Amino acid sequence: MKINDLLNIKSNYSNDEKKIILSFLLDLPKLDLFKLEEITDKKVINKYKKMLNNNLPLAYLLNEAYFFGNKFYVNKNVLIPRPETEVLVEEVYKLINKYFNDKVKICDLGTGSGVIGITLKKLNNSFDVTCIDISKKALKVAKKNSIYLNTDVNFINSDMLKRVNDNFDVIISNPPYIKNNTKEIDNIVKKYEPSLALYGGDDGLKYYKEILKSCKKNLNDKSIIAFEIGYDLKEDIINIIKEYFKDSKIICKKDYNDLDRYIFILNNLE
Ligand code: GLN
Repeated sequence: MKINDLLNIKSNYSNDEKKIILSFLLDLPKLDLFKLEEITDKKVINKYKKMLNNNLPLAYLLNEAYFFGNKFYVNKNVLIPRPETEVLVEEVYKLINKYFNDKVKICDLGTGSGVIGITLKKLNNSFDVTCIDISKKALKVAKKNSIYLNTDVNFINSDMLKRVNDNFDVIISNPPYIKNNTKEIDNIVKKYEPSLALYGGDDGLKYYKEILKSCKKNLNDKSIIAFEIGYDLKEDIINIIKEYFKDSKIICKKDYNDLDRYIFILNNLE
């Protein structure tokens, strides 16, 4: 069957997504697809047609997502990593290099697929990284990724920091921050991604409050807290920060859509 005919089969997936599915099945880079012109392998064609009948987000369909140039395994038990979160990692990495040495101890709180913690470990193998999640199923995915990406990180199954006794220099988190009853959520996200990873209570603030209230016991004197945040939560979160870390420096950053997306708290560093 001609590649073009395969791409013309009706489906909810866009043409670009269809190309990704085909190259996934053929184990070929997407750009090499058209060198083939035609696919003769019936098994591949049938599998492709079957996949096109799906509505699943592509990352769940293929069980893979890219983050910071690395391929991560994902399934329906974890949030699909977002490009915004890459910026969170990039920014915290800069701050770590500015304020700490290689021996920094980092906690990725609510690790999901493990993208944040594992990427930081990949950026500097001397970092001591602990990934925490309440979901055992998510931790299974994160562990798989740490093996697959050859990184030696620690894992703890805990509801936030409740069962954690270590002290960290950096706590980084992209907690669930969507308001429970929000209308502004993509139907596909709502239908397929785990609600545990999405919703942060009626005001979206549940996990920020919980983390800020309890994390002092797990932080060294000089430390950084790094959050990804809902674009409309900045003021509320700053107010909570001031309650628990009143003398700390707060840095806010926007994402590439010009929306407030990141907050960094520097404790006793300046
Ligand atoms: N830390 C993971 C990520 O950033 C999971 C976040 C979550 O489940 N809210 O993708």
